[in-house]
Amino acid sequence: MERTYVMVKPDGVQRGLVGEILSRIEKRGLKLAALRMNVMDEAIAKEHYKEHSERPFFASLVEYVTSGPSVSMVVEGKDSIKIMRAVNGATNPVEAVPGTIRGDFSIETGRNVVHASDAPESAEREIALHFEESEITGYTRIDEGQLYE
Ligand code: GDP
Ligand code: MG
Repeated sequence: MERTYVMVKPDGVQRGLVGEILSRIEKRGLKLAALRMNVMDEAIAKEHYKEHSERPFFASLVEYVTSGPSVSMVVEGKDSIKIMRAVNGATNPVEAVPGTIRGDFSIETGRNVVHASDAPESAEREIALHFEESEITGYTRIDEGQLYE
């Protein structure tokens, strides 16, 4: 089973979308392995987005993700990294197709509601940045026998 780091960004929390987003993830068949709400620390946000540190939007991005509570989670399942990227939709909501979270609930790249790790290396790095191993649960969902062949 593969793990990925997913976040409902502060705009998603403020707009009352947490339940909808968690519901989509759960209904898809992916398992919530860890879940927390907090205001992301600025140093953690800078580390999280360090690949973008030279980009012109970096300062506003850090300000955005630390502007209020966000919901962080570890999501688990076969191919969870690729599936969560598809569930979230394209980074720019203009290109995000309807049926995706960004395609259904957002307008601008700078307020695109959700985050998900983009590769196995970033998933491992982001999970370790945001969670202690002891916070990540291990359990079997009752529907796993039907989800997987
Ligand atoms: P993601 O992996 O799909 O979230 O996209 P990226 O890793 O490319 O960018 C990270 C986040 O930075 C995006 O989700 C946006 O919130 C933000 N971002 C990326 N590009 C831009 C941009 O051109 N302008 C602004 N304002 N924000 C951006
Ligand atoms: Mg990214």
